[in-house]
Amino acid sequence: MSTPKIDRDRLTARFWERKPLKKLTKPEWEALCDGCGKCCLNKLEDEDTGAVALTCVACRMLDDETGLCSQYPIRHQFVPECIVLTPDNLDTHAYWMPQTCAYRLLWEGKPLFDWHPLVSGDPETVHEAGVSVRDRTVSEFEVPIEEWENYIIEEPS
Ligand code: SF4
Repeated sequence: MSTPKIDRDRLTARFWERKPLKKLTKPEWEALCDGCGKCCLNKLEDEDTGAVALTCVACRMLDDETGLCSQYPIRHQFVPECIVLTPDNLDTHAYWMPQTCAYRLLWEGKPLFDWHPLVSGDPETVHEAGVSVRDRTVSEFEVPIEEWENYIIEEPS
């Protein structure tokens, strides 16, 4: 099975500037994802300070060649704990989400970057801008959790 792509066809131009997040349709909401793959990296959270460190150890479902989830529509069959982000739970999750994530940016009232595929019209621009994890990850199958702290990285941005 090939990795599912993000469908950005047949959407109203710059819909994210015209409506609040809670008014977006499901296709609009899904299309906001820029395909960076950074939310699919495992993170380490400091219990005392709440600080979140990003690692390059990726979820077993991440396709490193595309930066996308390889089983997005049925991912919960394999990773039941994978979060389903919605306008209603963004408040809870925004703190750990990547600085460049479109959901976080809009939640913070910021514009999307010019490299966002919805703005550029090209799904490659997120990779060309150097903000995605494509070709930068190791699978969690290969690295035991006790060693994740050796794989901490700065967020590509
Ligand atoms: S971090 Fe945000 S924009 Fe990037 S893949 Fe995850 S949901 Fe999409």
